Formats: sequence, C-alpha cells, structure tokens
Amino acid sequence: MTALFDTTAPRSVYEDEHEQFRETVTKFLESVVAPNFERWEAAKRPDRELFSAAGEHGMLLFGTPERFGGAGVDDFRFNAILNEEFGRAGFASAGLSLALQNDVVGPYLTDLTSDEQKQRWLPGLTDGSLVGAIAMTEPGAGSDLSGIRTRAVRDGDHYVLNGAKTFISNGQNCDLVVVAARTSDDKHKGMSLLVVEEGTPGFEKGRNLDKLGLHGQDTSELSFTDARVPVANRLGQEGTGFYSLMRNLPQERLSLATSAVAAAEGVLERTLQYVNDRKAFGRPIGTFQHSRFLLAELATELDIARVFTDHCVSLHAQRKLTAARAAKAKWWTTELQVRVADRCLQLHGGYGYMREYPISRAFADARIQTIYGGTTEIMKEIIGKDLGL
Ligand SMILES: Cc1cc2nc3c(=O)[nH]c(=O)nc-3n(C[C@H](O)[C@H](O)[C@H](O)COP(=O)(O)OP(=O)(O)OC[C@H]3O[C@@H](n4cnc5c(N)ncnc54)[C@H](O)[C@@H]3O)c2cc1C
Repeated sequence: MTALFDTTAPRSVYEDEHEQFRETVTKFLESVVAPNFERWEAAKRPDRELFSAAGEHGMLLFGTPERFGGAGVDDFRFNAILNEEFGRAGFASAGLSLALQNDVVGPYLTDLTSDEQKQRWLPGLTDGSLVGAIAMTEPGAGSDLSGIRTRAVRDGDHYVLNGAKTFISNGQNCDLVVVAARTSDDKHKGMSLLVVEEGTPGFEKGRNLDKLGLHGQDTSELSFTDARVPVANRLGQEGTGFYSLMRNLPQERLSLATSAVAAAEGVLERTLQYVNDRKAFGRPIGTFQHSRFLLAELATELDIARVFTDHCVSLHAQRKLTAARAAKAKWWTTELQVRVADRCLQLHGGYGYMREYPISRAFADARIQTIYGGTTEIMKEIIGKDLGL
C-alpha cells in the first residue's frame, strides 16, 4: 500500500532486519490470512492453521531460546511489526489471536518458567501446535483484578481449582490457559498463576461469546470445577501472580497501541481513496473544506501518535518502558483509533454502514480497543498515580 504519512521521515526505531520481517508478514497476510479471513469471521474463530502457519513463518514467540525451538530474539520490534501489519490491512481479529500468543501469554511462559516447564510448552507455542490464552477477568472482576475469586487450594502435588472466567481471547482454540487464581485471602500477595491444560478434568470451555466486532476471533467463558492442576504448572512462586501481571501488562498495552495506530492509518488511507472517488455536487467529496480539514486533523494526530508509539517501542526494546508511559500510549492511541474509524465511516455516508465496506468492520473492531487490556479510565488512574495524585 502507498504510504501517505511523511515518507521523508524514516522510522528510526526499525532496522533493516525488521523491515525485512515486515515484508514476510505482508506476504503472509496475502497468502494465508486474506483467502481465509471471511470464513474465520463466519466461524467466529480462526482455524488452528493460522497458528501453525504463523509458526512455520517464524512469527511466534520470537524470544524462545534456540534450545526450545525458537529464534532467541527477544526484541519487541518484531512483535510490533506483526501487530502493525495485521492492523493496517484490516485483519485485526486474526492479529489479536497472534498478539495474544506473542505479546501477552508469551512473556509469562518465557520469563517465569523452569527449564522443565519451558520444555513442555515453549516448542509448541513457538511452532503454533499449541495455542495459549490468559484468564484474568471474571464475571465479577475486570478492572479491579485484586477482586478475583477463582480459588486454588493446595492438595498434595496439586491445586484444586474452582471458579469462572469470562471474555477470554483465544478461549475456544486454546490448549493452555494461564489462570490468575487466589491462593490466599491477601489482596495482592494472595494471587498465583497456574497453567491449566486442555483435557484437565473439571476445566470446561463455555460459550464462544457473540461480539460487536472482532468476529474472526474467539472470546470465551471458561470454568473450573474441582480441576486438579499440578503444582508443577504454577508460574513462579506462590503468591507472586499479581506482581507478574503488573510487570507484563505494560507490554500488552503497548501491543494494543501498535495495532491501534497502524489500523487507524489503514483506515485513513482507504478513506482518502474513497473521498477522491466518490462525487457529490459535481466534485469529489474529499474536496469539501469540511472533509479536507477533518482528514488533515486526523492525519496530523496520527503522525503524532506514530512518533510517540515508536518512541515507546524503542524504550521497551531497551527495557525502559514504564507502566505510566505504556498507559499513556494505550489510551491515547486507542481513543484516536476509535475516533478515526468513526469519522471515516461518516465520510463513507450510507456505504460506511454496510458490512461489505471494510470501514464498517474497522469501526466495530476498533471499539473494544479502549476497553480490554485495561480501560481508558484505568489508564488515566495509572497515569494520575504516577503524577502523585
Ligand atoms: C473482546 C474482549 C477480549 C478480552 N480478552 C481478555 C483476555 O484474553 N483475558 C482477560 O483476562 N480478559 C479479557 N478481556 C476482559 C477485559 O480486559 C475487561 O473487559 C476490561 O478490563 C474491563 O473490565 P470489565 O469488563 O469487568 O469492566 P468493569 O471493570 O466493570 O468497568 C466498567 C466501567 O467502569 C469503569 N471503571 C471501573 N473502575 C474504575 C475506576 N477505578 N475509575 C473510573 N472508572 C472505572 C471502567 O473504565 C468501565 O468504563 C476481554 C474483553 C473483551 C470484551
């Protein structure tokens, strides 16, 4: 696609090897995703082949050490490129499936695991034969993670797990789920992370939830009824789960920011094409002063969002991204993405409301971005605390 955004300013955060990887992702979108995407949307979940094909193309868990079947390249810029290209092309739901595995689940399994656990899980997550999910949210606790009630009670070499989770991405396709569970009543020190594997008696996948957007992706209820989970499946020490979540959430938020900016850029590019082609009152609708000013404003804001997000990616690659800065990137870029999708749909007139026009999907897919991974309001709480307020 022709780049419309200040092509004279190369993005210094990325090097040649990253740009080569961008080409790999673009080709993957053409050959694997585009031909199957409508079918995945109709099925409300992607085929497992999305994961195995991504694994074959070296697009999963870049940081997995070589001895466990990975490339051993722990460089978030590759993750970001994957998110950007899926978002830009309008394949957000398939992009989320992979981002969940790479950016959200991946770090728990690469950073908190023993060698024995790595051997069991990393090769499969890296070649795409295993699909991962993470289950924090419950029907009664979303923004306030310290309120979770799923409980794991120690019984010899096992934990007995009881509780219910909801809104879990990859929740139908997953083979293993990182579950946040209460191991004591202490608000923060009472949380632990357990990996629950498909086939564990008492672990059930509930409904594949019917969403407003992201139709090509599965979001599920999960339940645990006296599910016996080996102590050997615990990630890190007992009672450290809340702190592990807090450490990894900034990457999840940056991941969402990278997809938000690129998705909005893709929407703006397609809208520019549309407003040039569509005529009213004898002229292209893009030439009305209102349309020109609106698009000029959105293009400006996207340039600013791009520079800030790239800056955050660069900081994260140097392990210097703070929770507050990740929160700033997340709320600002996702709110912008929603606004860009909304305003660009308006410029499409009635056609924008038709599902056959990509803008309608982009509009519906964008809406969740300000909610999951921590809502805009929670991001502002984090930033407010960082300001000492
Ligand atoms: C499609 C989708 C995929 C998801 N994937 C996953 C997943 O893979 N794993 C997972 O664990 N979760 C997942 N979630 C859950 C998601 O992270 C939560 O929905 C989100 O954190 C909000 O929690 P909640 O829905 O319980 O809303 P609530 O916490 O009930 O919030 C409702 C409203 O109250 C506001 N609010 C709450 N607290 C405050 C406060 N202190 N100050 C100001 N306003 C506040 C919120 O901002 C929001 O506007 C997913 C959700 C969706 C819809």
